[in-house]
Amino acid sequence: MQLCAFSRIDIHAILDQVTDFLFPQVCMICGKVLSERNAGPYLMKRQLCVRCLSAFPVRLQNDRWFHCLSDPYETDPIPDFSVWALFHYEMPVTGLLRRLKFQSVSYCGQLLGDLIAREFPKELDITFTCVIPIPLSEKRLAERGFNQSSILGEELSRALSVPLLEDVLVRNRHTNRQSRFHDPLLREGNVSGAFSVEENWDISGWNVLLLDDILTSGATLHEAARILYAAGANLVIGAVAATHRENQ
Ligand SMILES: [Zn+2]
Repeated sequence: MQLCAFSRIDIHAILDQVTDFLFPQVCMICGKVLSERNAGPYLMKRQLCVRCLSAFPVRLQNDRWFHCLSDPYETDPIPDFSVWALFHYEMPVTGLLRRLKFQSVSYCGQLLGDLIAREFPKELDITFTCVIPIPLSEKRLAERGFNQSSILGEELSRALSVPLLEDVLVRNRHTNRQSRFHDPLLREGNVSGAFSVEENWDISGWNVLLLDDILTSGATLHEAARILYAAGANLVIGAVAATHRENQ
């Protein structure tokens, strides 16, 4: 009997080796075959080699927080709203975000979400109620089939042990891409009224981690945060994978 059990284990091990040989795991960025030597167990699972990971454009610890996104306008009801960003908006992060959004390559988003979860500041003395991704409009969700911010948020919600709630914040209408508007006033106008809180939810007193993929003008995150505060949230903190913005 013992001999039989060992044989079975051997067969599984051999089958695994044959599968690895026929279908080797490769780095999603450089395409090199992954091994214990150039990746290790964690990165092999994430389909990335150490060399490519070390080239990620990680922002310095003291350059990750962005404040006063309203640029500033005097009547801003939430002038203290802040957003945390992990990466500069550069390759290979830009490529991963594009593959996630336009080619539906979800493991690119899972990798970035995992890196965000690992780096998100643990010293923040905040007990979050939930993670809320910036929602897409119904039209764009139908086109794409998924919300890229939700994919990023899955790992973050797991790391913080709080739920990812996708149906609290609703996008009322399709807005044009923020990058098309260079004038801040046009950007504000573009997102004004874009969001609402689903009426079945009472978010009074909630501490919300609001997640988006990219921070451009900040108008989208700012408007979503404003709506969450207006609906009773106690605190809203923004987080994104990347931004091209520089801190002044
Ligand atoms: Zn690589």
